[in-house]
Amino acid sequence: MALLKLENVSVSYGKIKALDNINLEIGEGRIVTLIGANGAGKSTAMRTVMGLKHCDGGKVWFDGLDITNKDTGYMVKQGIILSPEGRQIFPGFTVRDNLFMGAYLKTKEEAAETIDMVYELFPKLKAREKQTAGTLSGGEQQMLALGRAIMGRPRLLLLDEPSLGLAPLIILEIFEEIKKINEMGTTILLVEQNAKVALKVSDMAYVLETGKVVLHDTAQALLNSDKVQKAYFGGFAEG
Ligand code: ATP
Repeated sequence: MALLKLENVSVSYGKIKALDNINLEIGEGRIVTLIGANGAGKSTAMRTVMGLKHCDGGKVWFDGLDITNKDTGYMVKQGIILSPEGRQIFPGFTVRDNLFMGAYLKTKEEAAETIDMVYELFPKLKAREKQTAGTLSGGEQQMLALGRAIMGRPRLLLLDEPSLGLAPLIILEIFEEIKKINEMGTTILLVEQNAKVALKVSDMAYVLETGKVVLHDTAQALLNSDKVQKAYFGGFAEG
């Protein structure tokens, strides 16, 4: 059984149909990527899974449970956590305090245990734990956003554009961390403009065009697809 399943999901903003009857599945333990041009509906798909946007048709299932149009707090309790586009860390707070904010539903003991795991994964965050987040580099801020998401012990982690605004070498580093987070047992749904690097760490991928799924295959098959290469591999870091 899939951990996450979107069944004939449609979502609109007024008259704009951002998602048009899409079907999508993520198996437990997998990394799945959504690829698509600006405005294709990728962020909307994430927002819908997170309960930030309601569907006007279709069903969303999480581990067999119907979570369609539940609120965000409910999704977090189920173990779904979003690391949003633009990171949205709190620049005036320390790295440590930012991390603890990700564990607001956990006990102190759980949070203390998880922060050790985060520091093991991101030694750079440990070295800067007392620094305010606004003084971190872009790559470190992305690590902090990932670390904060892990603090909530997600079963399903939604990552919206983790490479946004980062230099090519830092992007590769971030994707290595994403792979490690996955190997620790977290299922990941990834939205990425940088399709090539994302496909390299993914198991499966879906290509969205104006709210519709137009292709769906293993990441390896899409990496080798002429159509995907021509449409989505231009102008980004080589991985
Ligand atoms: P990007 O890569 O640019 O973030 P995306 O694939 O994530 O694009 P979405 O942000 O999901 O695309 O947008 C899908 C469609 O919905 C677009 O046509 C967009 O203009 C529209 N849309 C998104 N958010 C809103 C909103 N709050 N109000 C009105 N329309 C919106």
